Amino acid sequence: MRNNYYPFVNLPLPYPYDELEPYIDTKTMELHHDRHLQTYINNLNDALKECPELQDLSLEQLIMNSYRLPEDIGTKIHNNAGGVYNHRFFFAGMENPNDSAGMPIGRLAAEIIKTYGGFDNFRDAFKKAALSVFGSGYAWLVVCRGKLKIITTANQNTPLEMGMCPVIALDVWEHAYYLKHYNVRADYIDDWFNVVNWTKAEKNYLKCLGR
Ligand code: MN
Repeated sequence: MRNNYYPFVNLPLPYPYDELEPYIDTKTMELHHDRHLQTYINNLNDALKECPELQDLSLEQLIMNSYRLPEDIGTKIHNNAGGVYNHRFFFAGMENPNDSAGMPIGRLAAEIIKTYGGFDNFRDAFKKAALSVFGSGYAWLVVCRGKLKIITTANQNTPLEMGMCPVIALDVWEHAYYLKHYNVRADYIDDWFNVVNWTKAEKNYLKCLGR
């Protein structure tokens, strides 16, 4: 399905809304996917409706090229294309807690151990980064010049525009956790670690390495 181009369509989540219970609640997933992501999709389509010359660009190309556009339309496309890209990536990176390996697997596991000295150290470093996001944004594990790196991005900025390749993403906007975890982002981060799809993360990692 041609879903990476205008007009963008909000495909269903790759799992039921209640799939991530009890760690991420059903209502949050409904609102997050059907309203928040849907709004980014609608706004992106609205922006592109006025710009036929941009309608053949992929989602990733829109993000990368947004800086070359006049500021008003460029910002609108950057923020909304980023919102679509980041949410799709974040949602695809989770799975039923009973299916989750609970820790990295394969080449990624080996590289995390090499880089961080073990999964527990990695998890602590990732949590610290996710807690450090001031306001709205994301924590990411990325590949940067062949090496693993934990980074954060503000708002709907993406690792792509920084020349980095994403492996896992955690949305720390309040809408991602406020209904269940209230203002306690630390608890949300701990819960999210139970639903990380490490099989998908390994696939992303190998793709980043060009394999
Ligand atoms: Mn979000």
